[in-house]
Amino acid sequence: MSDYINVTEIFGENVFNDSVMQARLPKKVYRDLKQTIEEGKELTLEMADVIAHEMKEWAIEKGATHYTHWFQPLTGVTAEKHDAFITAPKPDGKVLMSFSGKELIKGEPDASSFPSGGLRATFEARGYTAWDCTSPAFVRQDAAGATLCIPTAFCSYTGEALDQKTPLLRSMQAINREALRLIRLFGNTTSKKVTPSVGAEQEYFLVDGEKFLQRKDLIYTGRTLFGAMPPKGQEMDDHYFGAIRQKVASYMKDVNEELWKMGVSAKTQHNEVAPAQHELAPIYAPANIAVDHNQIVMQTLKRIAKEHGLRCLLHEKPFAGVNGSGKHNNWSLVTDDGINLLDPGKTPHDNVQFLLVLSCIIKAVDRHADLLRESASDVGNDHRLGANEAPPAIISIYLGEQLEDVVNQLVSTGMADHSLKGGKLLTGVKTLPDLAKDATDRNRTSPFAFTGNKFEFRMVGSRDSVASPNVVLNTIVAEAFQEASDVLEKAEDFELAVHDLIKENCARHQRIIFNGNGYSEEWVKEAGRRGLPNIGCMVDAIPALVTDRSVQLFEKFKVFTRTELESRMEVKYETYSKAINIEARAMIDIASKQIIPAVIRYAQSLAESINAVRAACDADVSVQTGLLKETSRLLAETKKALEELKVRTDAASMMEEGADQAQYYHRQVCPAMEALRAPVDQLEMIVDKEMWPMPSYGDLLFEV
Ligand code: ADP
Ligand code: MG
Repeated sequence: MSDYINVTEIFGENVFNDSVMQARLPKKVYRDLKQTIEEGKELTLEMADVIAHEMKEWAIEKGATHYTHWFQPLTGVTAEKHDAFITAPKPDGKVLMSFSGKELIKGEPDASSFPSGGLRATFEARGYTAWDCTSPAFVRQDAAGATLCIPTAFCSYTGEALDQKTPLLRSMQAINREALRLIRLFGNTTSKKVTPSVGAEQEYFLVDGEKFLQRKDLIYTGRTLFGAMPPKGQEMDDHYFGAIRQKVASYMKDVNEELWKMGVSAKTQHNEVAPAQHELAPIYAPANIAVDHNQIVMQTLKRIAKEHGLRCLLHEKPFAGVNGSGKHNNWSLVTDDGINLLDPGKTPHDNVQFLLVLSCIIKAVDRHADLLRESASDVGNDHRLGANEAPPAIISIYLGEQLEDVVNQLVSTGMADHSLKGGKLLTGVKTLPDLAKDATDRNRTSPFAFTGNKFEFRMVGSRDSVASPNVVLNTIVAEAFQEASDVLEKAEDFELAVHDLIKENCARHQRIIFNGNGYSEEWVKEAGRRGLPNIGCMVDAIPALVTDRSVQLFEKFKVFTRTELESRMEVKYETYSKAINIEARAMIDIASKQIIPAVIRYAQSLAESINAVRAACDADVSVQTGLLKETSRLLAETKKALEELKVRTDAASMMEEGADQAQYYHRQVCPAMEALRAPVDQLEMIVDKEMWPMPSYGDLLFEV
């Protein structure tokens, strides 16, 4: 890659985007396709044939030899099967490059090995991928050469969603319909569409590639299962926003270049709180594109890391003792003509529509806090949520002083006749301008914070897809909008009715608003008094999917059927059990084959030293004996914990898949893993570093 990057030139060069389509497609086909993309008009096979042909020609010019239907099954990562464009050889032995409309719009991967939670009986393992023309196709260049990637949805033969994308698109339809209905009531006759906009900030760790390969735990599970804290952690706060090291800077440069080519608007990059931790944020995009782009971001971060002799860790908690990684999901609702429904304007009390939207969101989040919590649960995130660093496991909303004041006025007097002014932020430095202070301050401890003109949902895990949180947000807010429109459309006095409704929503759901410190013990108690759910772990969060309230909600808005929800629940339990099983078995493997033998060697060296000294003279050997005793004690403890972990892991794997098994893994296997880790981490602090069988935390965190 060259040193000079002409960003405007390369941006989107590998994307089959609007300008490419306009330039290459016949006018009529282009117009029809636009209607399909924007208004959901049906796509004919003739159209698809023309589009497929042009897409193929374009991709071949970019060096593509293959195409793939790129989809997002319930594995958390993307899946793809590559097909070359070639046709069967002709009599003269030559092949042609072809790609039909049918191949563009529909694929039939062998779906039996993707998680389906029983939706697809294996004897009938057909699954289909269907082109999502609202997310542009792109060419990806990597070691496989160049591949035309076609974003698709993945469904069963009978149309049940087997992926992240399908429900997301369904939820976008629901929020579009209900938001339009709502803004029409306020006299908006011009907007044609309302789209949830999403900006996903991605956190990650970078470690040295060779050291990574010496850690079996990182290889198998993506996180360290053992590891004593180094002398230095993140206490100096010197990494956050610190100067980016050259090696990392050169990595980021290549990541950006790759992302820009694929049309991902990578915008912000900085060091994060923990050593070796970084963040990348793109500019927000329509939800389905943002979800796709986030997958591209994660893949690109990993791929480029290897090229730089590094490894990118996307796990939520790669290292105990320093911060884990999350993904802030910024969400707002924007019309096709650029109006953000979450923009309060300068004087929020004037902006009735904004207040109604806000009050509906407050209602939605309060009513379905359990679903939102569930949407952010994944195996790795259990180490963050509620673990005193990232947002707490209790859902609450942070509005900021100005808006909270408006809500308080509304609830107490039924009127809001003034807004707190932002005031000036005086820097005290004459040469700096006086900045207009943002009237909404930041609160980093809130899981769901209003940040000016969007909500920032901060619970999502770094490795997880952002699809589920947005499915939930879109649907729960669509429901609140629908209920509002049902009332307001019938109202005789609209102004009065809006006013009453805003007040009612705020008064009934005010308990979800919390502007204080979300990490504090007092908040846990206070939230309990308020009756807010405090769901501490993934296995306890999963049942939220299938409560009556959830089924009613999702069925009403045609986002999930009951069967689809039940299947998702099953998939989640299975995923949890499998992940913990792998972690437990990795620990057993590492402890048995690497750690215990290393500790025995160390103990032997101590014994030899004692004997040697004694043979030579009668000098003091109390240090060696002390160490030997301590080492032997911890070794015995390790062995005991190891045996217990084996027993429990075996018991867990014998159980039938489902809730009970997942609960057993969580309540029995996880503590046994902790119990094994404790003596091993103590041993690491004693044993000769030369003899310890893997790089330490210090080696991994400070030596990139
Ligand atoms: P902050 O400092 O508030 O987190 P940033 O400007 O860094 O804000 O934005 C964080 C993320 O939020 C970015 O991905 C950005 O594109 C996205 N974002 C900004 N405005 C909106 C919006 N109206 N809707 C959705 N996402 C947004
Ligand atoms: Mg942010």
